[in-house]
Amino acid sequence: MIGPGKAIGILGGGQLGRMLAQAAQSLGYRVHVYTPAAGGPAGAVADRESVAAFDNLAALGDFARSVDVVTYEFENIPAEPLEAIAKLVELHPSPGVLRTCQNRRREKAWLSANGFPHAAYAEALEGDIEAAAAQVGLPCVVKTADFGYDGKGQMKIATAEDLARAAAIFRGRRCVVEEWVDFEREVSVICARTRLGETRPFPASENLHADHILDISIVPARIAPAAEAAARDLAVRVTDRLGVVGLLAVEMFLARDERLIVNELAPRPHNSGHWSIDAGETSQFEQHVRAVCGLPLGPAAARNPAVMVNILGDAWARRPGEPDWNAVLSEPRAKLHLYGKPEPRPGRKMGHFTVQGADVEETLSLARAIKAGL
Ligand code: AMP
Repeated sequence: MIGPGKAIGILGGGQLGRMLAQAAQSLGYRVHVYTPAAGGPAGAVADRESVAAFDNLAALGDFARSVDVVTYEFENIPAEPLEAIAKLVELHPSPGVLRTCQNRRREKAWLSANGFPHAAYAEALEGDIEAAAAQVGLPCVVKTADFGYDGKGQMKIATAEDLARAAAIFRGRRCVVEEWVDFEREVSVICARTRLGETRPFPASENLHADHILDISIVPARIAPAAEAAARDLAVRVTDRLGVVGLLAVEMFLARDERLIVNELAPRPHNSGHWSIDAGETSQFEQHVRAVCGLPLGPAAARNPAVMVNILGDAWARRPGEPDWNAVLSEPRAKLHLYGKPEPRPGRKMGHFTVQGADVEETLSLARAIKAGL
């Protein structure tokens, strides 16, 4: 066990690292953030910040030797430097887990090999989208194999014209082409797993996206109890099989025929789990710290229904100056979280708020009204 008072290293300097650092500090840990970009949300709250590239082995070595355990909040870290760190200090989740999850081809191949449900897909190794789309059929969606997030590097293909456009855009890039899933709901389950193999899933969150970016998460998900149980069970089995120590977020589609289809895996805290800071018995960030440090896991239930709304940079464009924070702050059932990012660019995650209530639909209506008033 790596007990309170020890030092946790976090690779990545974004908002997930910030909230992870805050949870670790609440438990008495010291936090050292390693990030290529100074002045980010995590560095602002960390006890110590190192600013260097993810392939700077000397700086990574110094960082690893200064802490008792390393984790990461960001998936687009080259796996090789992680292997080097893992030789010096405990690193969770393992570099092998990250390698599988950071590339869509490897992730899908792993899901296939282990018998987990996923969308039918074909690989387009050098951007040969036409051949892959012919295999999968239309409509489909093309996604770059690596370094994609929040819908970046993906495009839906419904018509021959879309296909021609996609072929030009993705020429020469490694991609996967996936069948378009006509889903009823999108849900995610974040599951914690300890070194001893104990697993504990959070409740399923129902996720609503706008422009491929998470907009709203709703807990409990508005799905049948049997589907919720199946989603949790699937997430636990995936987490266990992958051998994650820490958190694994399993994003899924619930198809109209009630089948669950795994869309993406993320071995870290996840945007769809932010509700747990205010409405969870244990927040996802604290749970991640507990898991990577070998502490007992906390209870993972929601205290009551909760709705989380992302605040993107776009909110700054709607009126001159700042969004009207009083819209959130004057509502006793809402909690505001801002990440301290200086520049509110469109699509950039600047913060979120969570509303709690006794009834999901009423809480969702209130959350939408607050969002409209920002
Ligand atoms: P991803 O980056 O894979 O999480 O995709 C972002 C969002 O695009 C998802 O949350 C879905 O809303 C949508 N999407 C991605 N893949 C598919 C698919 N195969 N079928 C339908 N919608 C999809």
